[in-house]
Amino acid sequence: MTRHYTHWINGHWTDASYLETIERHSPAHGELLASFSAGNAEDVDQAVGAALELFESRDWSGLPASQKSRALNEWAALIERDTEKLARIEAEEVGKPITFARAEVGAAIEMVRYAAALIWQIPGEAHNHLGEDKLGLVTREARGVVAMIVPWNFPLVTLFQKLPYALAAGCSAVIKPSELTSGTALEVAKLAGEAGLPAGLINVVTGTGTAVGERLSTHPDVAMISFTGSTQVGKKIAANAAKDMRRVSLELGGKGAQVVFADADLEAALDGVLFGTILNQGEECVAGTRLLIEDGVADAFVERLVERARKVAIGMPLDEECQLSSLIHEGHMRSVLDYIAIGKEEGATLVAGGERITEGELGKGYFVDTTIFTNVTPEMRIFREEIFGPVLTVSTFSSVEEAIRLANDTEYGLGNGLWTKDVDKAIQVSQRLRSGTVFVNTYLETAVQMPFGGFKQSGVGRENGLEGLLEFTELKSTFIKMGKREPVLPNTVD
Ligand code: NAD
Repeated sequence: MTRHYTHWINGHWTDASYLETIERHSPAHGELLASFSAGNAEDVDQAVGAALELFESRDWSGLPASQKSRALNEWAALIERDTEKLARIEAEEVGKPITFARAEVGAAIEMVRYAAALIWQIPGEAHNHLGEDKLGLVTREARGVVAMIVPWNFPLVTLFQKLPYALAAGCSAVIKPSELTSGTALEVAKLAGEAGLPAGLINVVTGTGTAVGERLSTHPDVAMISFTGSTQVGKKIAANAAKDMRRVSLELGGKGAQVVFADADLEAALDGVLFGTILNQGEECVAGTRLLIEDGVADAFVERLVERARKVAIGMPLDEECQLSSLIHEGHMRSVLDYIAIGKEEGATLVAGGERITEGELGKGYFVDTTIFTNVTPEMRIFREEIFGPVLTVSTFSSVEEAIRLANDTEYGLGNGLWTKDVDKAIQVSQRLRSGTVFVNTYLETAVQMPFGGFKQSGVGRENGLEGLLEFTELKSTFIKMGKREPVLPNTVD
């Protein structure tokens, strides 16, 4: 059944009198899934107005920790109740396997509960060594209205790495989900209303980046823009924000390396490398799609990797057995196939996949098989650029120094992995990998208490952890004089 949505502003659905809508068809089989309102600047103004009014009323930011925390936990319970519905929407709209979509809903719930717990201990400082008669307080205040602009690959997780933390800090939010995958953002905003969170706290305006995103990220009443998406759009947002010193946090692209040393548990490494390549069809900012493998074990490792890649279960998003599903849309599939053609032209050797799947029911969608290139060198575009598909490049190294140099030879710095049984090597190499996250003998782990974000062009700021909450606060220093104040300018006193 097709779902029809309008915007969610100030605690209710907006009028359905929109002439323009955006239709979302399944990337896996083409059927119509949903329609969203194609928002414009007026919709954004309305949503920002509602968020600002609530913020200034202090009806949310002024609540004690206990009440905010309870309200967020009630919201988490409703999201949990609706897990299956939300997972299905996420799987259908993104074209991702339902089992991964369920895990994504689970992660979102954890983030709400964790942020609800953090509210109890938002830190501050008191300084009583400023002199006998003075006290200094360092407090944290909510920044205000936060614009949250998120991508299509993990619509819920990318949103929930921001939203509960911002609410915990006392901010209100205007969300612009991707126009391809807006369903779950709208559903969770509605659930927040059901949980009793005040109207205006969470607003969702759907539409394109140019019509909605640009207005939202340049709106004078928006105190902070929290953006997740491509480095290209992130730079635009940062440039706009610089004009009036608006606060920004940016979670951007990546090109993660998986460094496999000869002394690693190679069985585990095979599994981790394949998982890091195919999770979410490779449409994953932390995807580990540059395999760097030590010379002596490279040939045998790649041979076994290719065998395993052939066994990956490709299927429709709602198929419980499916491990790899459809890419997000035709244009993106073409871009992934173009990169595969570029890899061949650049002289890399294609050893697995490399094709769109055209047979059977999968032929209706945008399915690309797990693709592996060997003989990849650092100057090749497939080594340097974010492909955002299930495409792994393989390069070899012969020393620890060479491995580190190759891993860091990228403008990105989001996540990297390394595989070795040598503890000293694991620690020393992990310290020299220039990325916000390093996975040792594992890949793509997440935990709400561990901050997430990028070095270099992978972003600015951190999400999750206490740091993730503090991003949504401003620091204030308050000096308090106790007792009668002696004038600093005595000759001016009558
Ligand atoms: P994108 O940058 O094209 O779009 C992201 C969001 O920005 C969308 O909602 C889009 O509509 C909006 N947007 C586009 N142009 C805009 C503009 N001019 N002003 C304001 N908003 C605008 O990214 P995408 O294709 O949706 O997502 C894929 C990218 O996201 C990849 O590069 C991936 O690495 C990155 N990503 C990063 C993380 C992370 O946490 N670091 C997580 C997921 C995805």
